[in-house]
Amino acid sequence: MYKRVKGTDDIYGEDMKYWYFVEDVARETARLYGYSEIRTPIFERTELFVRGVGEDTDIVQKEMYTFEDKGNRSITLRPEGTAPTIRAFVENSMLATGLPKRLFYIGPMFRYERPQSGRQRQFHQFGVELIGSPSSLADAEAIVLADRFLKNLGLVDYTIKINSIGCEKCRGEYKKALKKYYENKLDKVCDDCKRRYETNVLRLLDCKVDVEYVKGAPKITDYLCDDCKSHYLETKEILDDLEIKYEEDPLLVRGLDYYNRVVFEIHHGKLGAQSAVGGGGRYDNLIKELGGPKTPSLGFAMGIERLIIAIKEENIPVDDVKNNEVYVAHLGERARVEAIKISEELRDSDISVVFNTMERGLSAQLKHAARLKCKLCIIVGENELERNIVILRNMETGEQIEIERDYIVGTTKEWIEK
Ligand code: AMP
Repeated sequence: MYKRVKGTDDIYGEDMKYWYFVEDVARETARLYGYSEIRTPIFERTELFVRGVGEDTDIVQKEMYTFEDKGNRSITLRPEGTAPTIRAFVENSMLATGLPKRLFYIGPMFRYERPQSGRQRQFHQFGVELIGSPSSLADAEAIVLADRFLKNLGLVDYTIKINSIGCEKCRGEYKKALKKYYENKLDKVCDDCKRRYETNVLRLLDCKVDVEYVKGAPKITDYLCDDCKSHYLETKEILDDLEIKYEEDPLLVRGLDYYNRVVFEIHHGKLGAQSAVGGGGRYDNLIKELGGPKTPSLGFAMGIERLIIAIKEENIPVDDVKNNEVYVAHLGERARVEAIKISEELRDSDISVVFNTMERGLSAQLKHAARLKCKLCIIVGENELERNIVILRNMETGEQIEIERDYIVGTTKEWIEK
């Protein structure tokens, strides 16, 4: 027997309703804010992520699914959705259609991480990108959209954490202070931190091992330049005006290199160790880095698997998928043809029908209908057809009636609704 690859999931059956629910709410919320969908390829040239996400990030250092294709090109399964979206934005000259551009995506991402609850190697994200606005109005819009999305899912036990990590200008001073702080701790920190100290000091704050040192580190918010300070303040003021609840976390830096200024993360109270359901921020330099003109932009991504765990933890009721409403059973050759016609008539009226395609007796067909949780069963028999009727049975109560051929659709609809 073949087994699925470690860290991947088969998604089917009862669970599907959660996926439809989250994806529907995501699409609907994105639509409310004027975002249109983009679907980029699952794989890209490796350089895109090395350049975009950053050489010294955990993603590029250890988590990418990279392989050589038959044309000796280095290809990577996308670990995140922003770099591909921006690549598509630049490549397809979307700039020409005017800024700002609002795009969203839903789809699988791939990271070679140690699998555990809420952490897979193939997972799914809903993400938005607001391309082309330097204003704090844009930062606030993304956070408000994220908040509305979570509220529309029915979630309450979440916290929005925000911070500003400044621009290249103010970050210079901060990096110096951070380096100074870690200077005399280098023999005590983990190997990753030692490397980060040399290559990318900001990443030191990302360490999940030396958390005590991280807590005592200097705070970037004390080093922001005037422009970054007022941009951060304006963003917070808009959130306050809209009564969006958030917490400031001066040590929040995010795991990807392209961010600057406002960054944010959303954590859920019942997710345990992997508590982040989403995160994002501003990336004013990414488009230039990827070959386009400098275009201030921002975005966020939410993890769908983790959202579903949160929905289940909060016991949020989610409607069953409306399928298998009616089972059409039949006995005899002439009945079979009539039963197909009846099934199609029901489907014409948007009723979901499971048609029996097996050579089975009536009791086996009824058993099958019960196993599929069909609400109703229509039984088409030769004798009944002679009398121009069929039998309609309520599978939950066992109640059944005879209905005339011409009234099948109307009566079935009434029975579904009652
Ligand atoms: P990131 O951009 O890395 O912060 O990812 C955004 C969101 O995607 C996270 O907050 C998680 O909800 C989700 N996510 C990231 N990595 C994984 C993973 N390996 N498995 C499941 N969800 C993930």
